Amino acid sequence: MSKVRVRFAPSPTGPLHLGGVRTALYDYLFAKNQGGDFIVRIEDTDTARYVEGAEDYIMEALEWCGLIPDESPKHGGEYGPYRQSERRDIYDKYLAQLLETDSAYLAFDTPEELDEARKKAEEKGEVFAYNYITRNQLKNSVTLSKEEVQRLINQDVPYVVRFKMPVDRILNMEDIIRGKFAVNTNTLDDKVLVKNDGMPTYHFANIVDDHEMQISHVIRGEEWLPSLGLHYLLYEAMGWERPQFAHLSLILKPEGKGKLSKRDGDKFGFPVFPLNFKDPVTGNVSKGYREEGYLPEAFINMVALLGWSPANDREILSLPEMVGEFDLYKVHKAGARFSKEKAEWFNHEYLKTKTDEQLLAMLRDVQDIDLEATDEKLLKIISLIKERATFVKDIYEQGKFFFETPGEYDAKAVKKSWNESTPELLNALSAHLQDIDFHPENLKEELHNFAESREIGMGKLMMPLRLSLVGELKGPEVPDILATLGKDESLRRIKNALNNIS
Ligand code: GLU
Repeated sequence: MSKVRVRFAPSPTGPLHLGGVRTALYDYLFAKNQGGDFIVRIEDTDTARYVEGAEDYIMEALEWCGLIPDESPKHGGEYGPYRQSERRDIYDKYLAQLLETDSAYLAFDTPEELDEARKKAEEKGEVFAYNYITRNQLKNSVTLSKEEVQRLINQDVPYVVRFKMPVDRILNMEDIIRGKFAVNTNTLDDKVLVKNDGMPTYHFANIVDDHEMQISHVIRGEEWLPSLGLHYLLYEAMGWERPQFAHLSLILKPEGKGKLSKRDGDKFGFPVFPLNFKDPVTGNVSKGYREEGYLPEAFINMVALLGWSPANDREILSLPEMVGEFDLYKVHKAGARFSKEKAEWFNHEYLKTKTDEQLLAMLRDVQDIDLEATDEKLLKIISLIKERATFVKDIYEQGKFFFETPGEYDAKAVKKSWNESTPELLNALSAHLQDIDFHPENLKEELHNFAESREIGMGKLMMPLRLSLVGELKGPEVPDILATLGKDESLRRIKNALNNIS
């Protein structure tokens, strides 16, 4: 068997969305699982939809995800160039072949003439299609004489090249995920292969490049399934062997109905892009997983499981583990529902596996947080909070009280934990704490003994104490908080609370 070569072929029309990331990931996983190559090709022939910066964004996003291409515009390779806009002469060569074999024809219809044809069809209650019937009534090289066609070309009349769809053929097709299905060519139209600016459309450039780059498997979104018939016929017309195809199902909205769209992120409060993207025209910034605080390994693990289930219901897998296990034939046919909670769960699981030192470096890296504390203190705080954190920034947010003396006290918590005997209790405790060693183990024991000597339950003591230290009834174990804050700060906070609450 020839080498497995899989390409990811994004169009630089905007940032990569979750569906695109998943396609790239499955391309990568399948290629690497088979010992093959992962190629990135930029499909930039649609100049009208080109977005400045989109290609760089796509390459940076793939890199962040750890999906490093073997070949791409950035990485080079033997089958370049890897940008379609730089491959015009290749398409021209193959177009001549298509025209020679009568598999395509020139169409000179103006937009006005096509509108007219559309209107006529509508009047009859039909939908216009440029196809095996209508081509015989329109202005093209099927209906015009050779001389007339040559005259129009000489006069520089604009034209497009259309595929000449065969009449009444049943096409039997096969998809790795969906199995076998058939289509009658009469239901397909004569798609434009080359536009009037001489640029090939997606369909033509795509099959030429997949052939030229010796692509063995095409994995892409299901929105391309209706084009598969045309692609089969293009391969046939060129006399080329076709790659195998796998069309991935949609990623669905959290409620399980409808495609997750680019606008859904704002609506549901989670990113749909891997990285922040600033629209070069409007200046609007769309949120990205990276900036939201997701770890790339958690992000791709989450994305991989949107449509594929590893054996034994395993959920946490590193990229190399996924490569080892990935099976394209087991990718789900049904759409995959996106869940923000699940995405957060993945991040939490990966965060837990980081060492305190790794988290410290990451915490120091979080923008907008200016930490004055020493490494030693931060490491203590990290070890106390990391079990509860979903994101690195949570360590700071949930542990904020370690850095700032409470300025106010949660009213509900005060009501629950404070009464007229509390000031006397906390004063006595303060006096007791003055003389003891602030080690968590020791503090635990001392607090116990103190509560016992006063003949009160632990809750009665711990609640007002916690409230004084934290400002609310949250956080890690009280002895750990005391030990981390240190004696002076702890006593200061108790005093503060006594002054402010009582
Ligand atoms: N340029 C197409 C897209 O962005 C690629 C589709 C394909 O993989 O064939 O969707």
